[in-house]
Amino acid sequence: MHNGQLTFFGGVGESGGVQVLYGKGEQAVLFDFGVEHSSLLFPKQLTLYEPVGATPGRELRQFLLGGMTAPLPELYDPQLIQTLDMAKVRHSWGDRDFPHYEEIRLFIGHMHTDHMAVLPYANPDVAVYMNHDTHSLYRGMVEGGHTPDTAARITVCDDLSVVNFGEFTMQIVEMDHNATGSAGIIIDSGDHKIAYTGDWRRQGKHPERIDRFIELCRDKQIDLLITEGTRLAADPAADLPSQMTEVELLSQYADIVDEAGGLIYLQMSPRDLERMADMIAIAVEKGRKVVMEASHAVIWHRANRECLRILEAHPALGADIQIVDATVTDRMQVPYKTISLEEIAERKNKYVYFYKFPDLAHMIELETLGDLQGSSHFIQSDYSVKLDHADVAKYLKTFGITGHSLCNGGHAHPDAIADMIERIAPQAVITLHSRHPRSQNTKGIHAYFPQKGETVEVTSILASALPKDM
Ligand SMILES: [Zn+2]
Ligand SMILES: [Zn+2]
Repeated sequence: MHNGQLTFFGGVGESGGVQVLYGKGEQAVLFDFGVEHSSLLFPKQLTLYEPVGATPGRELRQFLLGGMTAPLPELYDPQLIQTLDMAKVRHSWGDRDFPHYEEIRLFIGHMHTDHMAVLPYANPDVAVYMNHDTHSLYRGMVEGGHTPDTAARITVCDDLSVVNFGEFTMQIVEMDHNATGSAGIIIDSGDHKIAYTGDWRRQGKHPERIDRFIELCRDKQIDLLITEGTRLAADPAADLPSQMTEVELLSQYADIVDEAGGLIYLQMSPRDLERMADMIAIAVEKGRKVVMEASHAVIWHRANRECLRILEAHPALGADIQIVDATVTDRMQVPYKTISLEEIAERKNKYVYFYKFPDLAHMIELETLGDLQGSSHFIQSDYSVKLDHADVAKYLKTFGITGHSLCNGGHAHPDAIADMIERIAPQAVITLHSRHPRSQNTKGIHAYFPQKGETVEVTSILASALPKDM
């Protein structure tokens, strides 16, 4: 019988960039295909300001040579690596050997760049699995110009569906995270069972999904739990504040919309389409119209055309949306009517503007034209550009705009992780997606700390969990 083994290409000792290969016999699955946010390069991400991005057209070469993605040529579009010296790539991994499998398939848990940045460069022959709503969001992101498309063969999976690899199965389990459709997996090879959470949180709108994941893991008697640990601090005794729940966050947003006299600028991630929907619905309910930056509007429209399951019958689906004409680029097909900055400025108290950094210059017109001055509000809601960003701060001060930060993050509090570990009670736990995995309280469960590039048999991880005198 073949032994299942894990190879850790990314997510070890770093926040994001999870790339773990599980293989058994001739079959393998690589879970997640991203690049860490703070590696040498920031993966191309239009929601961030001036990232040190890869050189257009050379992204994959730079990810590979920089050791930021698995050095397995079969995963990549052959055209993109035909002139690349793979020996140099292997050299950046210390020239070590990696296991070879007849077929490697990909699972993409969610649409944050640290989990999917390499997808556009995947080999067209590679099979890719993703949860339904993650795929809908991806279609929106491609159409909105937030990521290139992929030629790889995507299979859209239902929540809880099981993919059979022959040597093992992989069940897709939808979780809660601030990227729509996020999912984890449960791998079952008959002789051992591994659960991977992906990125997750308890403070979101769907803690019941986390409970369901825990129950599924308990029922299956998971041997090895792989969880994220993004929020862990260097000091294990650090008392991290708990985040507000999504319900509290939305209620604070509703209060701001209620009380604001002027325009409301709202900066949020269009990868969290449920929050976007809730914020649209609240704006409409409070008598405001929704105007949007063009690429956000395209993502919203396209993802919804794919029938996002999470937004079935959501009141925001019927909302009237207009696109700020100054944000429409030449080649863009816009799905809604446009509106000018002048029209918005005339009736500032009638709009919520789903704004995208760095369009701050719009404020010069919006805040000086029309009658209402000095009463606008700017909300930053879990966006990468914060209120204290020098340019944002300068504009808010210049125009007397009140700033608000409405954030609860997408990641689990260390106490929530400890609770999950305790309830699942696996034989061993691995904390990835964290700079300080050793800070996690594992409630007495054996913690295994893989090294980047390490290949290890699952049985050996589990054996290391046994008391030494047995
Ligand atoms: Zn992540
Ligand atoms: Zn994420």
